[in-house]
Amino acid sequence: MHYYSTNRNSAPVDFKTAAVTGQAPDKGLYYPEMIPSAHGLLKQRPLADWDKTELAFRVMKPYVGQSMPDEVLHRIVTETVDFPFPLVQLSEQVFSLELFHGPTLAFKDVGARFMSRCLAHFNAGNDQKITVLVATSGDTGGAVANGFDNVEGVEVIILYPEGKVSPVQELQLTTCGSNVHALAVAGSFDDCQAIVKQAFTDADLNAQYQLTSANSINVARWLPQQLYYFFALQQWPHEQPPVVSVPSGNFGNICAGMVAQRSGLPIQHFIAACNSNDTIPQYLRTGILPDKTAVPTLSNAMDVAKPSNFVRIMEMYDQDVQWLRNHLTAVSVSDATTRETIAASLRDYNYLCEPHGAVGLYALQQYQQQHNGAAGFFLETAHPVKFPDVVAEISGAAVPIPDNVAHLFSLPQHSTRIDADYELFKEWMRGR
Ligand SMILES: *Cc1c(COP(=O)(O)O)cnc(C)c1O
Repeated sequence: MHYYSTNRNSAPVDFKTAAVTGQAPDKGLYYPEMIPSAHGLLKQRPLADWDKTELAFRVMKPYVGQSMPDEVLHRIVTETVDFPFPLVQLSEQVFSLELFHGPTLAFKDVGARFMSRCLAHFNAGNDQKITVLVATSGDTGGAVANGFDNVEGVEVIILYPEGKVSPVQELQLTTCGSNVHALAVAGSFDDCQAIVKQAFTDADLNAQYQLTSANSINVARWLPQQLYYFFALQQWPHEQPPVVSVPSGNFGNICAGMVAQRSGLPIQHFIAACNSNDTIPQYLRTGILPDKTAVPTLSNAMDVAKPSNFVRIMEMYDQDVQWLRNHLTAVSVSDATTRETIAASLRDYNYLCEPHGAVGLYALQQYQQQHNGAAGFFLETAHPVKFPDVVAEISGAAVPIPDNVAHLFSLPQHSTRIDADYELFKEWMRGR
C-alpha cells in the first residue's frame, strides 16, 4: 500500500515512511492510494464471530502492507486493543460506544498505542532516538505519554498549561517512565502549541533531534481508529445499519469511521457532532469553508477551528460537497445544550456523560427526530472523571475514580516548570 500527499507535490511513500515522517514534505496529509475492501472479511463469517484481535489484524494488514512482518503487526494490534469497547444500550434507539476503557480513559489510547509501537519497530537498530513533541490541553497528552511509556528508542516531551488540566490528567502526564518528560508551561495551551510549532521549524533542534509529532495527521494514529467502528458493529443488535454520531474536533476519528464505511462496513450515516467551533457545520450548509479562530468550550478537546483531517474527508468525496452531504451531517451544539444533555441523560437513561459524549448524544437525538427515530450510537470519547468539575456540578455528585487510574495517585510525579518562552524551552532541550 502506498500513500500519496493530498497536496500532490510529494512522492508517494509506503506505510513506514508515512508513519515516521508524519506529514508529507509538501505539507499535505498522507492518504491511502486505495481503500481496501472489507467484503471478503465480512463474508468469511458474521462480524460478531470474529475474535477482536484477529479482526483488528485483518483490518489493518492491507494498510501496513509489507512494511512489517505479520508477527510484528499481530503483536502490535494485540497490545493496542487489549481492553473492552462496549456498546451500551440507553434506549431502544440510542446506544453509547464507550471508548474510555483504555489505560488513560480516552479513545486516543488506541491510536497512540498503535503509533508508538510502530515507531519503536521502525526505529529499532537506529542509534538516534525519535523525539516525540506534543502540546496538550489535557486529553491527548495522557494517551500519548502512556502509549509511549517505556517504549524503547523513543522519548516524549509533553508541554501542558500549568494548573489548567484536571487532576487525573496531570497524573497521567507526570507519572510515566524516564523516557517521558512533562513540562508544565506557565501559560495557556496556545502558548504550548506555539512553542511546539516553532521547534519543528528550528534548524538547530532538528539537526540535534529526530523530531516527530504524535497528532492524528500521522497515518499510524489515524487509521487504527477504524477499529472502533468494526467493534461496534460486532455488537449492533438491529437489522438496519446504525447512524453514528462522532464528537469531532480535528475530524481524525470520524474520518477513520468513514474509511471503514467505504471499505464496506454497514453504517447508514455519519453525524459530526461539534461544539461551538462550527467550521464544518457551516461549510456543509454553505459550501464555503469559513476562516475561524477557536473559541473555548466545555468540550475542550474539540476546540478546533481548522480541523486538520477534513482534507482527507474531501479527498474521499472527490471534493464534491453535495456527494459528502449524502453521507455526513454536521451539527454544532452549544455549551448550554451540552449541560442540559448531561442532565437529561442522567434523568432519562440514568447514564452519566462527559461534555464530549453529550455533544455526540444531542446531535444523534436531533438527527433521530428528523429521521423517524433511526437507531444509532454516539461515541463516548472520554471518561467523566477527566472532566470532573462540570460533570459533578450537573450530576450533583463527585465522579468516582475508576480502578484503572486509582493507582496513579500513589505514584511519584515528575514535571519541570518553565515559562512560556521559546528560548527557555530550547535551552532546556539542549541542556539535557
Ligand atoms: C480528541 C478528542 C475528540 C476529537 O477527536 P478528533 O479525532 O480530533 O475529531 C473528542 N473527544 C475527546 C474526549 C477527545 O480527546
